Amino acid sequence: MHNPLFDLTGRTALVTGSSRGLGRAMAEGLAKAGAHVIVNGTDAARVQAAVDELRAAGHAAEGAAFDVTDEPAIVRAFDDFDRRGVAIDILVNNAGIQLRKPMVDLSTAEWQRVIDTNLTAAFVIGREAGRRMVARKSGKIINIGSLTSDLARATIAPYTVAKGGIKMLTKAMAAEWAEHGVQANAIGPGYMLTEMNQALIDNPAFDAWVKGRAPARRWGLPEELAGVAVFLASPASNYVNGQILYVDGGFSAVL
Ligand code: NDP
Repeated sequence: MHNPLFDLTGRTALVTGSSRGLGRAMAEGLAKAGAHVIVNGTDAARVQAAVDELRAAGHAAEGAAFDVTDEPAIVRAFDDFDRRGVAIDILVNNAGIQLRKPMVDLSTAEWQRVIDTNLTAAFVIGREAGRRMVARKSGKIINIGSLTSDLARATIAPYTVAKGGIKMLTKAMAAEWAEHGVQANAIGPGYMLTEMNQALIDNPAFDAWVKGRAPARRWGLPEELAGVAVFLASPASNYVNGQILYVDGGFSAVL
């Protein structure tokens, strides 16, 4: 029996980029709170593997493999949800990529690829979900930002710009949709142990920097985002709008 404040029974959650990493951990957290989760990624086999694992653990899950930068594919996916009577009650805009290069060497195409994947996709999918949520007068949108929503770092300019944009997109969604019963908020994860960070995790100097800089003195675990995702997806956050909640071991709180 779930606590009703945090109960997601009967809700359907689409989590983009949930075949692995942070999205996978948040999808599992939402499923444990009772949600039916829709797993997404570009690699259909990896999506199906995650769905199979969630189902094997007794959770309700299905897959929807599409590229978040492919607008016609997104529109088709939402048309398919509509046809099948599937309402997306919870959207987690999580899919994202990293590209490390000094700005002087960065091509416009590389810049655009990161902006398209990490920012524009959240607008397009958010718009498709938001339209339907506004019509139903109910919904939860969780955008995944980063410490770089507020702070820059060398060699990741387009990522930083996209994540800063995610923070403001979240406020823009709240500005337009809060009065329609839709809560849009963001999560700002700190340095987490996922494949995206493998090169950094394997670099002793970077590893030491993270452990020295974060008051928690360690990297975050993907499952440590699950509680905040459930909170922002649940009735417990019904009057929380346009906020970014950092889950970073205190990283953003200290110099
Ligand atoms: P991973 O690289 O571990 O996983 C990325 C996920 O996104 C995969 O499921 C991948 O699936 C999917 N994905 C990537 N591109 C696309 C696309 N174009 N369309 C659909 N799915 C896509 O990343 P993380 O779990 O580390 O990161 C997840 C989010 O969290 C990102 O937005 C990232 O910026 C953010 N973040 C991560 C932090 C960290 O420390 N790890 C810190 C702060 C924020 P597939 O390969 O099948 O496409």
